[in-house]
Amino acid sequence: MSHVIRLAVFGHPVAHSLSPRIHAAFGQQLGHLVDYTAIDAAPEAFTAALQAFAATGGTGANVTLPLKEAAFALANTCSERAHRAGAVNTLVRQGDTWHGENTDGTGLVRDLTERQGLDLRGRRTLLIGAGGAARGVAPALLDAGVDGLTVVNRTAARTDALADALGDPARVHPRYLEQLDEMGEFDLIVNATSAGRAGVVPDLPRSLVGMRTVAVDLSYGEAAVPFLAWARAHGARQTVDGLGMLVEQAAESFALWYGERPETDAVYDDLQSRTASLVTAD
Ligand code: NDP
Repeated sequence: MSHVIRLAVFGHPVAHSLSPRIHAAFGQQLGHLVDYTAIDAAPEAFTAALQAFAATGGTGANVTLPLKEAAFALANTCSERAHRAGAVNTLVRQGDTWHGENTDGTGLVRDLTERQGLDLRGRRTLLIGAGGAARGVAPALLDAGVDGLTVVNRTAARTDALADALGDPARVHPRYLEQLDEMGEFDLIVNATSAGRAGVVPDLPRSLVGMRTVAVDLSYGEAAVPFLAWARAHGARQTVDGLGMLVEQAAESFALWYGERPETDAVYDDLQSRTASLVTAD
């Protein structure tokens, strides 16, 4: 067994997070003792909570809704991906400072390509949402070779901010929700909103979905049901929820802290078998 390192996930709310369970399983698999707790911090209390965590030996953290953009602002240094995302989901203590990473996008792409067997290259892609999760996955989708990334969000100003941060005007197309009627079918539609947590589907025209469409919801459990059911009802070829992404982004974070990447299938299968009872929290 290696030495114990002190880890946590910060969010608000965070009580239902599956991350402590996932990281405990990874530690067991690789022979590391894992001390990983969930810390509830409202946005205004996040800085102080993170400082207190570091002062008591905290060396790594995950950050979830609604703190990812705040974590980006707090990090002393950042990876290139986190910078393009403007959002951080993983913090690594380096001396007296925090280094920020974003593993959400790598996690999503890994799940879609390796677990679901999808080739993302050349897919006309629609990203719905412009919050922390959308920011995290957008750079990775572009790097995976999608053929253009159309971005829409309920609050249009956030769509523009995300498109600006991505800095790829030739491939990133910010649009208003009202413009979607004229856009035809997409090969890949990624719902990165939290609407499903309230049991609703963002207001979208059915013309977006065709026989080739793969629909992905970053939520899992009950929260993924409304959007994926909507997509299936309109003829989507395949639907994927965010459980695989959750496990894969966790494995990427684990690798940053411990220097080795765990195998993910066993943890995924275990969670998948209980998917109906899972509450989206990461
Ligand atoms: P944020 O709070 O940062 O952003 C929420 C987004 O959802 C915004 O774009 C918001 O739009 C939009 N939204 C909320 N309600 C509605 C609605 N009723 N109709 C349309 N749009 C709506 O959350 P995150 O980006 O961090 O998380 C989004 C989802 O992704 C969550 O369910 C989260 O659990 C999931 N997630 C899953 C991960 C995984 O590993 N599987 C990892 C990260 C996130 P507006 O800007 O207008 O408010």
